[in-house]
Amino acid sequence: MARIAVIGAGMGAMAAAARLAVAGHRVVVYERTRTYGGALGRFERDGFSFDTGPGLLPLPAVWRDLFVKTGKEPLESCVELVQVDPSSRHVFADGTAVSLPNASRAGVVAALDAALGAGAGQRWGDFLVRARETWDRTRRPLLEEPLWPNWRVLAEREPYPAVPHKRLLRTRRAETLAEVGAWELRDARLAALLEGHALAHGLDPRTAPANTAVLPYMEYAFGVWYVRGGGLRELARAVYERCLARRVEFRFGAEVTGIVEKDGRVAGVELAEGALEEAEFVVSGVAPEVLERLCGGAPVRGADEVPARRGGSSRLTVLLALRGGRPEGTAHRTVVHAADREAELDRLFGAAPGMAARPTVTVLRPEDPALVPDADHEAVTLSVTVPALDGASDRATTEVSARRAEQLIDVAARAVPDLRDRLLWHEVRTPAEVAADTGVADGAIPVPALAGAGGRLLHPSNGTRTEGLFTVGGWSHPGGGLPHAGMSGALVAGLVVEGPGFRGSQ
Ligand SMILES: Cc1cc2nc3c(=O)[nH]c(=O)nc-3n(C[C@H](O)[C@H](O)[C@H](O)COP(=O)(O)OP(=O)(O)OC[C@H]3O[C@@H](n4cnc5c(N)ncnc54)[C@H](O)[C@@H]3O)c2cc1C
Repeated sequence: MARIAVIGAGMGAMAAAARLAVAGHRVVVYERTRTYGGALGRFERDGFSFDTGPGLLPLPAVWRDLFVKTGKEPLESCVELVQVDPSSRHVFADGTAVSLPNASRAGVVAALDAALGAGAGQRWGDFLVRARETWDRTRRPLLEEPLWPNWRVLAEREPYPAVPHKRLLRTRRAETLAEVGAWELRDARLAALLEGHALAHGLDPRTAPANTAVLPYMEYAFGVWYVRGGGLRELARAVYERCLARRVEFRFGAEVTGIVEKDGRVAGVELAEGALEEAEFVVSGVAPEVLERLCGGAPVRGADEVPARRGGSSRLTVLLALRGGRPEGTAHRTVVHAADREAELDRLFGAAPGMAARPTVTVLRPEDPALVPDADHEAVTLSVTVPALDGASDRATTEVSARRAEQLIDVAARAVPDLRDRLLWHEVRTPAEVAADTGVADGAIPVPALAGAGGRLLHPSNGTRTEGLFTVGGWSHPGGGLPHAGMSGALVAGLVVEGPGFRGSQ
């Protein structure tokens, strides 16, 4: 039995903690805030309740597996998981709208044909077949196995089987997601549907590699899920309670300020009050710049390893308390696509990052009595990808965010009739709040690991230069997002328990 210190109570870290405790180790989680879950926060006011992090769960199998491996009660006995159907409604720039059924390829093809014209569904369906091949090629190395020591193979090869495209006298194959949209989908609305998946993760579809196709594939193949009875924060609660049941100890309000090393091996963590907590293994669930600080500025990774990713996009979230109940048949998620795609991408990823006047806005309207004071009210969440914090003053950031929130409400009014008339109050959650919840200084949100692109979208391996020090969560392999963070917990537990020979769960 080893003593294991886990830094942070984010989802990746808690997934590792529960598994390590089941393997017989004494696990203590040190969390700087007063609660668990990291990005999976909750905002409550006047009987309304909102998720402040992700509002939907892809690939629940990852969390089901955690519950199977750590106890008798399956995930479904601990939270009420429901499939969201339709998986989303889309309102495109030209006013066309389409609702896509959950996890039904035939249903999606038929809906797209009906809304966008004959042939559109078939092109999307054919794309999903290629996306599936990409998933089959990358699922193990980019989700289920520790990062390969020869990771350059993943960095150099684009696994998406692009269709040859004749252009002038040359035949080309799509290398970016935007090229997949333009050359293979050949409809601005289908391209918007595709690119929306990259944008939601803070990626520019014009530079994101073609294998970003796995992100829409995961949704269409495995469905989109919600946790009824309070939202995704309830998943964090269930994982926390599973940790407690396995005797993981939590210390809240306990910021780790240093990692102690002795003779090249980790020896424990130091807390803000200067106390030393000895440990044979340390599992760090924090961002790379925090980890580097904790290691006294010493390099955490070897020169030949994937460098840590830094920065990226963040999220602006606007929580709306509405009078009047949620109308019957309302879609859980509506994506209102940008009025001008080029303008949105240029603004967001250009030299002076900002937000377009009418950006792509995701509107979440869960059917969940736990979120509202009574049936005559509705809780709605709007979100948009925005640049991470740029060092501007708090006041300037707050003013910009307040202005952006008004823009979001205007865009959302295209999907929610009478939105302004029904509005009781709204609350704005900025990248500064993301920073406060996660400890990531600029509020950036990590993206899932992707192949190709010269390795730009890979994350560093879970092992480090220091023996006994491991990294978990969105900033290390296999990257950000709930399924990925959950898998990082499984990988770290495997590496600690079985050693460097661990090759992933079968
Ligand atoms: C607004 C928002 C929307 C998102 N939407 C989606 C989505 O739609 N789909 C999706 O899949 N993913 C989404 N994500 C990302 C997803 O929530 C995360 O990737 C996932 O929860 C994994 O988090 P993590 O394990 O990296 O830990 P984090 O959530 O980053 O938590 C890190 C924890 O470490 C603690 N900590 C930091 N420094 C210290 C220290 N020195 N000592 C002690 N504790 C410390 C922090 O307080 C925090 O609790 C979203 C995230 C945010 C913020």
